[in-house]
Formats: sequence, structure tokens, C-alpha cells
Amino acid sequence: MASESDTSKLAEAVEVGDRRALARAITLVESSRDDHRRQAAELLDLVISKTGRALRIGISGVPGVGKSTFIEAFGHRLIEQGHRVAVLAIDPSSALSGGSIMGDKTRMEDLSRHDAAFIRPSPTAGVLGGVTRRTREVMLLIEAAGFDIVIVETVGVGQSETAVAGMTDLFLLMLLPGGGDELQGIKRGIMELADLVIVNKADGALAAAASQAATDYAHALTLLQSPVEGWQVPVLETSATKRTGIGEVWQEIGRFVDLSRGSGAFERRRSQQAKSWLWADIGDSLLDRFRRNKSVRSALAEAEAAVIAGEAAPTKLSQDLLDRFFAEHQT
Ligand code: GDP
Repeated sequence: MASESDTSKLAEAVEVGDRRALARAITLVESSRDDHRRQAAELLDLVISKTGRALRIGISGVPGVGKSTFIEAFGHRLIEQGHRVAVLAIDPSSALSGGSIMGDKTRMEDLSRHDAAFIRPSPTAGVLGGVTRRTREVMLLIEAAGFDIVIVETVGVGQSETAVAGMTDLFLLMLLPGGGDELQGIKRGIMELADLVIVNKADGALAAAASQAATDYAHALTLLQSPVEGWQVPVLETSATKRTGIGEVWQEIGRFVDLSRGSGAFERRRSQQAKSWLWADIGDSLLDRFRRNKSVRSALAEAEAAVIAGEAAPTKLSQDLLDRFFAEHQT
């Protein structure tokens, strides 16, 4: 097991922007080995004061909407302006199956070659909660390494949007021209999370449909409550392939940040997220320890069987199991 001084050396190397150290640090926080988890916790504690200054942008949309093409174009533009851009992905399909909707295709190839860019695919092990936790931790490491824009990307097929919106300052929803939200499988709840909506593929034969869709979405959004007071969620048209509308997106992001910083909504969102993160972590760790507890483990199979057979109600059994667990931890 690595010593404390190894961990502080790693933290220092991350903070001076050493990419190999950053990659090692990320591998460490993504590992589920007990000793690695402890070392990761120590590492995160060491770098925490260097985090929090980046702008965190969430991007979601169905597979094929153009997320990676857009991020490629958007990322280049930001880098040209002197920013350092990191892209993280949360792929709920990989969390469930080990496979991936986002695909094995090389995504954002040009951007990934750039010195001022850092691209990290979704961790593939574990349930969505675990993937989310790892992604948050990776986000901190990346910020400590000096990236000032972090984009967290996800596919719009489930709870992962909520997870991404829950860790970013601004949530951007990408939609296709035409088809309507039902067809695109976008639930009302997801629309409500959006701080900014983009209709992509506004080019060629799809241009007219895109502008119709943008008008329709803008109308639909006036009926929803905006996530930030005083902010009317804008609907923008982009063509990621022709690279049009990208500047407007950045401009609207700036307007959103100014407004939400000014009203305090930005900080409030961050505080809320930090608090939820703590509670999620407590919940995860507790459950983890509970499952691995010897005395619980020996009774668990029997309890499950009794519940499945309908011989006992889960209420009493779960209380008994918790009593067993906590009895061991009382002094
Ligand atoms: P993702 O699955 O959301 O990451 O989507 P991709 O970025 O991989 O894009 C899916 C397909 O749509 C690719 O063939 C892209 O070339 C195409 N595409 C992406 N953006 C645009 C756009 O703005 N206009 C048009 N016409 N095609 C696009």
C-alpha cells in the first residue's frame, strides 16, 4: 500500500498539471479496492482547495443527436480562447451491462490530441450511483490539474441526466429537429432540468425543421418553471458539423453564469450539490460496509429467502439486520 508521502507527491504532480500523474490519480479514484479507496480519499482531500474554480457544464441528448461532434467543435473554440477543457462521460449503459451506447468508436479524436484538452470515457464498472460518484471525484482531480471548463456528457436515456445535472453548474439539453419530445424520448422532467436547449443539425434539408422545432420548444419551455429565477431558458439552433451557432451557445452560457452568479443561484446550486454528494457518499459507504459485514452476511441469504417465500415481511427483517450491524459497532 502506498504511503502518505506517495499520495502527497501524487497530489503535487496533479496540481502542476502533470498528465501522467493525473491519469494515475484517476485510475486510483476509479478503483474499488479498499486500500485504493482510502488513498483516493486522502488524495482528494489534499487537492480540494485547488478545485471548484472551473465552470461545470452538463450536456445530454439521445445517441446520434450530435453530442460528440458538438463538443469537438465547442471544445476547439474554447481552447482557441485560451481555456483548458476536460470532457467526462457518464454512460448508464456501461454501468449496467459493461457495454456502451456511447460506443467504442473513437470520440472527439481531434480534440483529444490537443494539449489543452483532456477526455475521459465513462467508468464501466458498477451501478450508476458508483459511476456518478467516480465521475464527481474525477472532476475534482481535473480541476486541480488546472482545467477551467469541465464538460460532463451523458446519453439521454434514463436517470443519468439527473445525475449530470446534479453535478454541474449548467445543464444543456441537445435535441433533434422535428420528431417532437415524445418521439425523442425526452421526459418532461428532463426538460425541466435544462438551463439551455439546443436544437442541433440545423443545416441542409433539416434547417427548416430545426427552426420549427426551436420555436415549439421555446413555447413549451415558457410553460415550465425555469430552474433559475429570472432566467428564461433559451433555445438555440446549431449545426455541429458546419460549426454554426456554437458562438451563440457560449454567449448564452456566459449570460447564464453572470445572471446566476449575480443572484446567488450559482453558489446555492453548488452548495446543494456538495451537500447531496456528502449524503450520497454516506449512504453508499454505509450500504457497502453493511453488505460486507460478516454477521449481516451470514443472515442475509436466509432473510432474502424468507422474503421471497413470503414467510416474513421485509420490515422486521431489515430492522433485525440493521440491529445486528449496529450492535457490533457500539462501544
Ligand atoms: P452523439 O451520439 O450524440 O455523440 O452523436 P455524434 O456526434 O456521434 O453524431 C451522430 C451523427 O450525426 C454523425 O454521423 C454526425 O456526423 C452527425 N451530426 C452531428 N452533428 C450534426 C449536425 O449538426 N448536422 C448534421 N447534418 N449532422 C450532424
